[in-house]
Amino acid sequence: MFQDDEPTWDVIVIGGGPAGYFASIQCAESAIQAGSPLKVLVLEKSRRTLGKVIISGGERCNVTHACFEPARLVTYYPRGGAALRGPFTRFQPRDTVNWFEKRGAPLKTEEDGRMFPVTDSSLTIVGCLEDAASQAGVSVWSQSALLELQLLQPTPDSGARFRLKVRRDSIQTEQYLLARSVLFATGSEQHCQQIIQGLGHTMHSPVPSLFTFKITDARINELAGLSVAKAGLQFEGDPGQKKSVIPAQQGPVLITHWGLSGPAVLKLSAWGARWLHERDYHAGLLVNWLYPLTTEKIYEELREYREVAGNNRKKPSANPVFTQIPLRLWKRLVEASDIAEQANWADVSKPSMRCLAEELTAGRYQVEGKGIFKDEFVTCGGVSLDEVDFKTMQSRLVPGLFFAGEVLDIDGLTGGFNLQNAWTTGWLAGNGMLA
Ligand SMILES: Cc1cc2nc3c(=O)[nH]c(=O)nc-3n(C[C@H](O)[C@H](O)[C@H](O)COP(=O)(O)OP(=O)(O)OC[C@H]3O[C@@H](n4cnc5c(N)ncnc54)[C@H](O)[C@@H]3O)c2cc1C
Repeated sequence: MFQDDEPTWDVIVIGGGPAGYFASIQCAESAIQAGSPLKVLVLEKSRRTLGKVIISGGERCNVTHACFEPARLVTYYPRGGAALRGPFTRFQPRDTVNWFEKRGAPLKTEEDGRMFPVTDSSLTIVGCLEDAASQAGVSVWSQSALLELQLLQPTPDSGARFRLKVRRDSIQTEQYLLARSVLFATGSEQHCQQIIQGLGHTMHSPVPSLFTFKITDARINELAGLSVAKAGLQFEGDPGQKKSVIPAQQGPVLITHWGLSGPAVLKLSAWGARWLHERDYHAGLLVNWLYPLTTEKIYEELREYREVAGNNRKKPSANPVFTQIPLRLWKRLVEASDIAEQANWADVSKPSMRCLAEELTAGRYQVEGKGIFKDEFVTCGGVSLDEVDFKTMQSRLVPGLFFAGEVLDIDGLTGGFNLQNAWTTGWLAGNGMLA
């Protein structure tokens, strides 16, 4: 079945995710406040809007991060930080906190800076966004997918610049809609990426970010659950290069059933997302279990320890010199340094001690693949940022076309930064479409 053209919508938002919702609410609310309401429609292809928000942060929704200085906030974005500098001076985590609090969904801050609804339920955030959209008069059509987008010459009567072909699964209909402004808030969905490319935009290919490392290694085998509170991680540079091009990362590291996870691993995965993708997720990884201590410093400490411990027959394998490392991991590192389980400190040779110092501060591991981090996942890639005006989120190529959220070539570290990108760019686009 095919329906005729509908009257023109002022704004059609493609994608009922957090960026699409935030933009449509901001646009519709501001238009009402200005005394000239706009007809705003959100098209969502799946049955449920805000699907990712529901599962976000282990269903608690890590809404944002307690980082209120734009200059520091941008350092949490491996891609897009520079472009977000200006937008964060206009809408930043403090504004997010106020926005949700004003609408009855206060947030709380955890020790590491992550912010969640006080209810610890993502449904609070979903309900809040749905209520705000409904109160602002935003129409939301679920099971409605954008199939095609055509540019029109705007006529003085309708002012429509876009004709959209939409498949509405719930009523088994395909129909055309007209719009003055269109916002793409479609995340990493590929069909829309092709449509955007067809409009002349450059798209950086989508690549996963925020994942764990698959590592099969006797030193960490069967130690799942052990963690080190402050480890340092860096990739080994490519042959011919002295250093890796990916910045080293520090933080907690967790040993899992199939490799390494934890905040430091996730950060490194984000910074190295493209680099690792190009290498099919195979790379040499250097682990400093005693960050920030250096190999030399540790070697000296081991030598001093041997002087004292050697006399009272202490065994290296049973007596960890550094308590930051769990005993079972320490034992494995001692073993990997060719120090026998029964050996006393007095028997340990200088080369073995140097080897142990290296195992502790620069152990070499081989990443052989990527695993899933179930609490948060994001894709890097998307619309090239220099083709977008970050004051309004409007395309520099197609007037009336806007972008917000993950469809842009922006992605953040884990901790609430990805949703903050959706809130900030959504808010700016919502204002941008008022003009
Ligand atoms: C498991 C998981 C947990 C996460 N947890 C967190 C967290 O706690 N904190 C955090 O900051 N970030 C988190 N993230 C990342 C965050 O969810 C995303 O960055 C964010 O959802 C991006 O918002 P968006 O609106 O740009 O895109 P999306 O949320 O991807 O929304 C895009 C929407 O567009 C719709 N769409 C696509 N194509 C079409 C079409 N042709 N027609 C109509 N509709 C279409 C999609 O169905 C989708 O609903 C998590 C991600 C995952 C996967």
